[in-house]
Amino acid sequence: MRLSHSFVKTLHDAPKDETARGAQYLSRAGYVHKELAGVYDYLPLGLRVLDNIKAIVRDELDAIGCQEILLSTLQNPEPWQKTDRWDIEKMDVWFRTELAAGGELGLAPTHEEPITNLMKTYINSYKDLPLAAYQIQTKFRNELRAKSGIMRTREFIMKDLYSFAATEAQHDEFYHKAETAYKKIYDRLGIGEDTYQTFASGGVFAKYSHEFQTLTDIGEDTVYYNADRSVVLNEEVLNDEVLAELGVKREELQSAKAAEVGNIFTLKTKYSAPLGLEFMDQDCKKKPVLMGCYGIGISRVMGVIAEKYADDKGLVWPEQVAPYKYYLISIGEAGTKKAEELYVGHEDDVLYDDRDLRPGEKFADADLIGLPYRVIVSDRGLEKNEIEVMNRATGETKIFPADTFNFKTIAF
Ligand code: ATP
Ligand code: MG
Repeated sequence: MRLSHSFVKTLHDAPKDETARGAQYLSRAGYVHKELAGVYDYLPLGLRVLDNIKAIVRDELDAIGCQEILLSTLQNPEPWQKTDRWDIEKMDVWFRTELAAGGELGLAPTHEEPITNLMKTYINSYKDLPLAAYQIQTKFRNELRAKSGIMRTREFIMKDLYSFAATEAQHDEFYHKAETAYKKIYDRLGIGEDTYQTFASGGVFAKYSHEFQTLTDIGEDTVYYNADRSVVLNEEVLNDEVLAELGVKREELQSAKAAEVGNIFTLKTKYSAPLGLEFMDQDCKKKPVLMGCYGIGISRVMGVIAEKYADDKGLVWPEQVAPYKYYLISIGEAGTKKAEELYVGHEDDVLYDDRDLRPGEKFADADLIGLPYRVIVSDRGLEKNEIEVMNRATGETKIFPADTFNFKTIAF
């Protein structure tokens, strides 16, 4: 993309109530636009980051045999009434509205009820199981407080996956596959090192659920971990019984702030029983389907990465999620001619700062936008047959010969 063609401009100030550093940078660098508290628009650069995150998630889920779908955002109250979750007392985050023709509708906060209902059409026999389906979709939640930019919002993008099994063994097998896929996903997103699978409360249907928590000071949750971090648990399960079971002592645990970037739940028959999702088993008996659900906060993950990968100048995207790999800066007449040549054929990897601005302004924007490599093509450099490349994360600079320059050979 050519910056001269972009309608988005970097801003001197973030919205005044934006306090988290990553959130300020996302606004100032033009990744997102704050519409109202807890509601954000994604601009071209932000959309590319989201798409990169989604692509990694899709890749790993497809690899374990999940099928992608897209469920409706407008929701029928009926299945929610059957599970007793239409009640605003039980589910306080509902956004609900009325149909002009009469009757009520909900705006999707999650999809257990609709997908359970939908599967009644397709799951009849044990031969139809196991199966797993996921979607990446906008969710609406009437959160009491929006927080930390795109990390807690009232409209957000979630990946939600649901598994359906005939037996506990089938369920467990998929659950473990999902655990492994999640670890790969967070590794590929660049937050694997700081993301821990934690023991969390599982409700009445399983002893624990698991959350994936990324350590960060602006996280809303507190997690507790032992010295080698082999046991990490959420605050709500920090009690004597659980500690004994996990074989850890309270005094050997440390605490840290963390953000929940995903979770996995064994649901057993929590939704299938009230909604009547059954299958005919080999013994010719009808049994309720065993379910699991698995979430990842796609837009929250983007917020967490922005928070963790930043310095005092701006964002520092890991390569896998960066909207473009190279920030190309042209300086001077010969520099511009050469940069134009280099840009051709690399439109998808290069953000080309071809604007008529002072070099200092381009450098500042390059730092703020935070692409992995800054490539400077200047008159002065070309006189010496030189192109300068800087690694945004390390600040390291390398000189490449201009006449044989190729983006693909940049690595350090
Ligand atoms: P939290 O405890 O943070 O409210 P949750 O338990 O309500 O999360 P789920 O309903 O399981 O979360 O949603 C799955 C994932 O979606 C979460 O792990 C989180 O990453 C993300 N998520 C949940 N609520 C929000 C929100 N309001 N804004 C952005 N992401 C969210
Ligand atoms: Mg919540």
